Amino acid sequence: MPRDVHSDGGQEVSVPSAQRTVHVFSADRSLGIDAMPSLSSVRVFVEKGHVIGVEGSIAGTEDEPFAAGEVPASAEDRLENDAPIRLVRHVLGEVVLTPAFVDAHVHLELSQWNAPPAAPGESFSEWVRRVIAFRQSEAYDRRTAIAAGIAECLASGTVAVEDIAQPGTTGADYGTTVQQGRCERNAAFDDTPAVDVTAYFEIIDPAGDRISQWATAAEAFIDDCRRHGVQPGLSPHAPYTVPFAVLQKVMDLACQKGVSVAMHLAETAAEAELLAQRTGPFRRLLEERGLWNESLWPPEVTMRDYLRELARAPAARIIHGRYLRDAELRFLAERSDRMTLVVCPLTHEQFGREAYPRTFAQLPNVAVGSDSLASSPALRVSASLERLGAWGWAAGKRLWAIGTGQTLDRGPTFPAVGANADFLAWRIDGEGVGLSADADTWYDAILDRGELQAVYRRGRRIFPRGKHT
Ligand SMILES: [Zn+2]
Repeated sequence: MPRDVHSDGGQEVSVPSAQRTVHVFSADRSLGIDAMPSLSSVRVFVEKGHVIGVEGSIAGTEDEPFAAGEVPASAEDRLENDAPIRLVRHVLGEVVLTPAFVDAHVHLELSQWNAPPAAPGESFSEWVRRVIAFRQSEAYDRRTAIAAGIAECLASGTVAVEDIAQPGTTGADYGTTVQQGRCERNAAFDDTPAVDVTAYFEIIDPAGDRISQWATAAEAFIDDCRRHGVQPGLSPHAPYTVPFAVLQKVMDLACQKGVSVAMHLAETAAEAELLAQRTGPFRRLLEERGLWNESLWPPEVTMRDYLRELARAPAARIIHGRYLRDAELRFLAERSDRMTLVVCPLTHEQFGREAYPRTFAQLPNVAVGSDSLASSPALRVSASLERLGAWGWAAGKRLWAIGTGQTLDRGPTFPAVGANADFLAWRIDGEGVGLSADADTWYDAILDRGELQAVYRRGRRIFPRGKHT
């Protein structure tokens, strides 16, 4: 029930006697990510989708109690402002609660891909041709594909996605989900997406002769997304489709509109060659198509200039980045407050690409993306984390921090007070882990053999669907 609000000379004042509704989730255990300890016999208090309090015993101790925030024991208790409260109890039982996943790079519009995915040895340009052909085929239906992609994401515990949106996509395209195989308006979520969506409007302008067209379309997209509860952004596609002079225009618009950016950068050796020497397959491709414009490629512009330009945005995602060199990685690391490298391990392996150098594992600002079903077998963050773990980049807590948006500046993480109540309930054989095991051991065990029971976003169960639990 919403708190009564009265207007008093233009200032809103909450009335203390108004009733508050607080949801209490109890479970065997919760795992923290940052400073939050792991708790046994945990109770998490949620109001209006946010954690307001948490209590339990610090796991691995002799019942050492832990409590933070507001933790009312019963309806007779009063919270800080002395308001009567209505406690709604959710007994989740023998499950382990973890923060929910964040997928930092997807192309949801390709979620109905019906051809073989990328194959090792298939050239990147050949694969791009297949994607373009698919978009022009009868099987391609953007809105249905986006809905199917969102459904797949949330079924595997993802509550936030960062999507690359083709021109023509609207904010309303994200307000649907798939239920029992059918695509429906998502009425249960007030016409807003079932997961948090950041949608980056894709810009492709290799000859730099379409600036006013994409700028107008991008501005309309930004306004439309904001009306539909979608966070807008801009995606200058990649250096071979967005020369430096065009990127500068994109960044001017991003800064003016206050939106973040996502760019595929340093994905292939051919692209790195284009930037370093203005030669190679991408130069030939652009020339073949009559799109090579010498004036857009001043000889002094390097990969570092692309990074410096992207750093102007409020936040920037660098997608793939495999051919970034050490100095460029340092540039990224020094700007971890607003720049993030997004790695897509499933796509990387699908193409059979060269392994990342060891230095990448030291980067503090890494996130993972599932990419698209045209290049990856699943839209599943846990699968990406398993691969990243197998590459030796991280394990335990650190690996989950990468998969749950810790590097994406999303504020506190569940179950910390103030965090969004976005969490997952896992069933796992606790005896097999060892009840006093540390969080690292638990996290690794969940990735290895945990069974996902339920997905909660803002304190509401969004998967599996059915009666609210
Ligand atoms: Zn991509």
